Amino acid sequence: MLLYDGFDINENGHLTVGGYDTLALAEEFGTPLYVMNEDKIRENCRSFLESFGRYNGGMGKVTYASKALNCKAMCRIAAEEGLCLDVVSGGELYTALQAGFPSERIYFHGNNKTPDEIRYALESEIGCFIVDNLEELKLLQSDAAELGKTAVISLRVKPGVDAHTHDFIRTGQIDSKFGFALETGEALDAAKKAALYPNVLLKGLHCHIGSQIFETDPFVLAAERMATLMAEVHQETGITIEELNLGGGFGIKYIETDRPLPPEYYMELIADAIGHVCTHYNLPLPHLVVEPGRAIVGNAGITLYTIGNIKEIPGIRTYVSVDGGMGDNPRYALYKSDYTAVVANKASQPADETVTIAGKCCESGDLIQENTKIQQAEPGDILAVFSTGAYNYSMASNYNRIPRPALVMVKEGKPYLAVRRESYEDLVRNDL
Ligand SMILES: *Cc1c(COP(=O)(O)O)cnc(C)c1O
Repeated sequence: MLLYDGFDINENGHLTVGGYDTLALAEEFGTPLYVMNEDKIRENCRSFLESFGRYNGGMGKVTYASKALNCKAMCRIAAEEGLCLDVVSGGELYTALQAGFPSERIYFHGNNKTPDEIRYALESEIGCFIVDNLEELKLLQSDAAELGKTAVISLRVKPGVDAHTHDFIRTGQIDSKFGFALETGEALDAAKKAALYPNVLLKGLHCHIGSQIFETDPFVLAAERMATLMAEVHQETGITIEELNLGGGFGIKYIETDRPLPPEYYMELIADAIGHVCTHYNLPLPHLVVEPGRAIVGNAGITLYTIGNIKEIPGIRTYVSVDGGMGDNPRYALYKSDYTAVVANKASQPADETVTIAGKCCESGDLIQENTKIQQAEPGDILAVFSTGAYNYSMASNYNRIPRPALVMVKEGKPYLAVRRESYEDLVRNDL
């Protein structure tokens, strides 16, 4: 009956994750609780890796965009699955290195990397800097020269394709804080500058066109434009671009009407588009890189809450309040994101009550979902919210001094603690 892969209902009518009873998880680890199905994460990693099967003898890289969920356990899983890793801050880099993630497989993103972050990444010998602007390029050259190193780089390009969730725009996204514009010649100029810097090695071109995308057209158009830029860079500088990185943004299922496509579907069309351009310009095929974040972890995660107060406002709506909220999941407050929820201990009953799920923060906008259908709820029930694996833990805050929840992984039918629940002591640890 359930819409979500890796979740089921057992003989007690309880929701299960990777075969493990969510009621037992709530009992054992407390609520609110992030639960990740590790088997599902690994399956997602493999489906991306396998999607390169038909591209240039499988010459592709999957770089997990760790901002979706960055903790040591997740970095270890990505490392074991053979993925590369995107980081966008010194903190994400530190976590990855602490987890033992191989530094040469780390890509460093960001529109405003600080001098300290650049130095830290250079000293850590990461694999690639995705250079956003000329200041960064200059700083990389001078720092790398000082350290006697070569910084391997890709250029972040705005390809003139901006994919939003349900539409995409072909022009006008020069107004973005990320990267060099393609249309104005800025990207090509940056490549020419990079070619002149002795301690910088231009290996790749990169773009990222949006998030939670279900269409293939924007990816194909971006692939064509980026491959054409690759040819121009070759013509103007003599540099053969080895790596073409098309970013992330692959959509996942949050609600019943979401229809995500399997990765190979995108990959086949993208590979075709790049192939055509390369043949036309007589260039070797580059290695293809994609950077899924949400599509690796999103649908592998749920959040468990305990239902508390239920407030029925006659003729208006019913608020079902949970013991978490915008602190552990700010996405509805930020973007009105869709979610599906189920009363985990009544999962086999019909979802025929329309309610608004509210958090416990001192904020009217602290909602998880409005006017959504769940089973008849009572205080003490456990509520599960699906598809919270991406951008929940990683966006969590301590608003109202609420400690952040624990994160549990379920692997081969057994749970283990991956991130401990914060204590009140943790909250005052840096207070003087
Ligand atoms: C956020 C981001 C991603 C991942 O996006 P998803 O929508 O989670 O797949 C990949 N690359 C870059 C540069 C990003 O900023």
